[in-house]
Amino acid sequence: MRTVAVVGASLAGLRAVEELRTQGFDGRIAVIGEEPHQPYDRPPLSKAYLTGTCPAEGLRLADAADLDGLGAEWHLGVRADSLDPGTRSVRLSDGTEIVADGVVIATGGRARPLPAAEGLAGVHTLRTLDDAAALRADLDESSAGVVVIGAGWIGAEVASTCRTLGLPVTVVEAAPTPLARVLGPTMGAHCAALHTDHGADLRTGVGVASLTSTGFGPWKRVSGVVLDDGTHLPADVVVAGIGMLPNTEWLAGSGLPLDNGVLCDAGCVTAFPSVVAVGDVARYQGPDGPVRHEHWSNASEQPATAVRNLLAGTTIQEYRPSGYFWSDQYGTRLQVAGHPADADEVAVVDGSPSDRRFVAEYRREGAAVGVLAMNNPKQFGRLRRLLPSRVVPA
Ligand SMILES: Cc1cc2nc3c(=O)[nH]c(=O)nc-3n(C[C@H](O)[C@H](O)[C@H](O)COP(=O)(O)OP(=O)(O)OC[C@H]3O[C@@H](n4cnc5c(N)ncnc54)[C@H](O)[C@@H]3O)c2cc1C
Repeated sequence: MRTVAVVGASLAGLRAVEELRTQGFDGRIAVIGEEPHQPYDRPPLSKAYLTGTCPAEGLRLADAADLDGLGAEWHLGVRADSLDPGTRSVRLSDGTEIVADGVVIATGGRARPLPAAEGLAGVHTLRTLDDAAALRADLDESSAGVVVIGAGWIGAEVASTCRTLGLPVTVVEAAPTPLARVLGPTMGAHCAALHTDHGADLRTGVGVASLTSTGFGPWKRVSGVVLDDGTHLPADVVVAGIGMLPNTEWLAGSGLPLDNGVLCDAGCVTAFPSVVAVGDVARYQGPDGPVRHEHWSNASEQPATAVRNLLAGTTIQEYRPSGYFWSDQYGTRLQVAGHPADADEVAVVDGSPSDRRFVAEYRREGAAVGVLAMNNPKQFGRLRRLLPSRVVPA
C-alpha cells in the first residue's frame, strides 16, 4: 500500500493518520477536510468555548509541529464529492482526484436541522467551530432569552452554558424524561434535575409546533417558540439539539452499503477491504447488530483497529468499544461507561442522587453492563474497571 486517503480531518481522521504512522505506514497520506480549520476538538464548543473561557486556538487537537511530524498532505476547505472503489479514487470539490490504495472514511456527522427554520436569524445548531462562533455572538446580544430544543447531551450543555452566562433559558423536550433512552427514566430524571437546580425552565413531554419571528426577508429573526400545547416562549436565540445525521451523501453511487452511517464489519472494514470507516460515521457490526457511536472516545479509539485491518488487507482484529463518554453540565461531571440501556436494572451503589454525587450500576440478566456517575470520578473509575470487556450494546 503506497497511498492512503483519509476523508474527514477531525478527531477520527487525525487519529487514523497517527495510527497509520504508528503502525509503520511510511507511504503518502492525503487528508481531505471540508472545514477550513486544522483538526480541532468539538466537546468544548458547547462548554468552555461557548462561555468564552477557551479561545479557538485552545481547541487544536495537535500543534503545528506534531501535524508536520505526521508527514501528511492536508487538503483543507475541500470536500470529497465521490469515491470510486473500483479505481480507488476520491474526487474532490476543487476538481482534484486522489488515487489511493486505501481509504479511511471519517466524515462524522452534521447537526440535524430544525424543520422550517432555514434562513431565520437567531436559530442555531451546534456541530462546528463556525456554528459555535455564530451562537456565541448571538448569545452576547441576547436579551429576550434562549430556548433550547432537545434535552440530550448537547442541548443540556448549551442550556448550562447559557445559565452560566446569566441568560434566561427554557429547555423543551418532547420525551417525558430527558436522556431516558440512553440512561433509563430514573437516571434520566436525576440528570434532568440539574436544569431546574440551576434555574433553567424544563418543559418535558411537549413538542414544538412552530417558531415566531419578526422582520422580513434577510431581517427576519426568531422571536419565540410555540409549543404543541399552545404556549408561546419568547426567545431571541433558539438552539436545536435534536441529534445528528451521518455524512454519507458523498458516497452515494460508490457501491458501499449505507444505512444510518457507513456499514462495516466488526473490524470497521466496509464491503471493500481497502476502505474502512471510523468515528461518528461508522456503523460497525457489534455482537448484537450494527451500531454507531457518537462519542469522543469512540472516534479516538476506533482508528487503531480500522487501520490495523486496512494495512492487513483483511479483518484481523475486531473493535472493542469502551463505551466511555462524559458530559459537563452546571459544574457537574457526568460519566458513562459500558452499554447501559433503558430496560436494564439500575441501582445506586455509592452516594446519593439528591446530593448530585453518586454512582449507579446497570445490570442485565444479573451482570453489570454499565456505570453512570455524577460528580464521582473515583468510584466511577473503580466500577468501570470491573465491567466485563465484552458487553453487548443493547
Ligand atoms: C458541541 C459538541 C459537544 C460534544 N461534547 C462531547 C462530550 O462532552 N463528550 C463526548 O464523549 N463527546 C462529545 N461530542 C462528540 C464528539 O465530539 C464526536 O463524537 C467526535 O467529534 C466525532 O469525531 P469524528 O471525527 O468521527 O467526526 P466529526 O467530528 O463530525 O468530523 C468529521 C469531519 O469530516 C468533515 N467532512 C464531512 N464530510 C466530508 C466530505 N465529504 N469531505 C471532506 N470532509 C468531510 C466534516 O466537515 C468534519 O470536519 C461533542 C460533539 C459536539 C458537536
